[in-house]
Amino acid sequence: RRGLMWLRNDLRMHDNTALYRTDRGCQSWAAVFIACPQTWDSHGDGDNVVAMRLRSLQKLQQALGQKNIPLYFVELPGFGDVPAALSQIAQKLQIDALYANAEYPLNEQRRDRAVRDALKIIGVPVEYCSDRTLTPPGSLTTNSGDGFKVFTPFKRAFIARHDNGAEGSASLPAPRKKSADHLAQWPEWLALESKHNLVRKIPETVTGYGVADGGEAKVLGWPVGESAGQAQLQDFAAKIADYHRWRDFPAHPNTSRLSPYLNCGAVSIRQCAQMALAENGGRWQGASEGASSWLNELLWREFYQHLLVHYPRICRNQSFKPETERVPWSNNTSDFQRWCDGQTGVPIVDAAMRQLNQTGWMHNRLRMVVASFLTKNLLTDWRKGEHYFMRQLLDADFAANNGGWQWAASTGTDAAPYFRVFNPYSQSRRFDPDGEFIRTFVPELTDLSDSDIHCPPQDLFSQVDYPPPICDVTESRKHAIEVFANLKS
Ligand code: FAD
Repeated sequence: RRGLMWLRNDLRMHDNTALYRTDRGCQSWAAVFIACPQTWDSHGDGDNVVAMRLRSLQKLQQALGQKNIPLYFVELPGFGDVPAALSQIAQKLQIDALYANAEYPLNEQRRDRAVRDALKIIGVPVEYCSDRTLTPPGSLTTNSGDGFKVFTPFKRAFIARHDNGAEGSASLPAPRKKSADHLAQWPEWLALESKHNLVRKIPETVTGYGVADGGEAKVLGWPVGESAGQAQLQDFAAKIADYHRWRDFPAHPNTSRLSPYLNCGAVSIRQCAQMALAENGGRWQGASEGASSWLNELLWREFYQHLLVHYPRICRNQSFKPETERVPWSNNTSDFQRWCDGQTGVPIVDAAMRQLNQTGWMHNRLRMVVASFLTKNLLTDWRKGEHYFMRQLLDADFAANNGGWQWAASTGTDAAPYFRVFNPYSQSRRFDPDGEFIRTFVPELTDLSDSDIHCPPQDLFSQVDYPPPICDVTESRKHAIEVFANLKS
């Protein structure tokens, strides 16, 4: 049997369900990656996330090469071009079966169905494996058979099914090494009818993605690939017991920072859960407060992935709560630009946005603070913030990002109630008490005292190049609450 493993956001050798199934099911096989820059662009992917993907793919190609397994690359414009191209590839490479790990956003599901249909015509079966989540989306439902809309009952149902005191099954092994002549059974390259060539070299950039400027620099701050992701996981395993104590303090790098690796698939979600379960006596809610609290975060990730399958309207750029489509967003362009640039005059918001712009990552507490500030205090449509995050984040992931934005904007499933609006100044005093994080990213304020730095005194603005606050936080909060309350009446 000759197989083809279609790689997407699952760029690792170990504990990769579809890769393992390909290796066990086929004597001879190759892998393929299809870049679709037009679709990536329409999904909002930015340079950083694409750079992370391509760099991780290069690492994976080296690892596969050491096992004499070829990895092909092809750039097509969009998802719509994939079924015909894969059908040609399957025929030209004389493939008997195609394997891939399932992806859950709507367009990805449509693409995958179209591929299955196209390959059926030429008699090639397609197997999509469940790999990206701990349990397949669609498999956990309420008593009435609907998808959960609220996190806590989802979590309870998940734990009831999985909390058996076991530390989870062992990771699936990497593919076995092939003989040297295995590579020779596969052509160096192939010309496709669409004039796109299937090649064995992973490019540095793809059309429209200026990975070389900015994107690359940011990715360089994060070592890429499976070994880097594993090193990160091991490093965090040594700190997980204290996770709950420091997880909300952005100046302390004590969260796992695994999100970029989880999203391109350099680390599997099961490997993460196993590590934490081992610390927690095999239980989801166990003796280690740190591990229990981290496992809870993994379940938020799980929850948002499951929502995509039950409620595909999330993928159609719509608010989950239909009535919130009537919010009269003010959408002031200059306010939005100042928010993007980290020039709002609210230090914790600016420090967070500059962290995002300079490093491609932002601490979770700050993601909530800046999202609340944009959608409530500046009354700007959450979709603008969601899109900006997608463009900047190294860990950009549609499900988690959309979930986080709709939560903060009170438009989503299990969202923050509309009357609960984060006060950026109290968040700042509470979670960055001595202003260490603010000083790192807003050097203009370095000389202010620990108490003044959260809300600089009026006379400062004439002395340093830092703007006065963009809005009155108390008044704008009151206004946002009135706007949301009016939707109810
Ligand atoms: P840890 O605290 O170590 O958590 C471990 C893992 O759990 C994370 O890597 C992530 O996979 C998952 N996780 C943690 N918190 C959440 C959460 N609230 N929702 C979903 N998964 C979670 N996460 C992304 O991966 N990609 C995004 O594009 C993204 N956008 C966000 C936008 C907003 C407005 C908000 C409020 C949150 C967003 N998150 C996103 C969730 C969260 O902020 C990040 O996952 C987290 O900050 C990553 O850092 P970490 O790996 O150190 O997290």
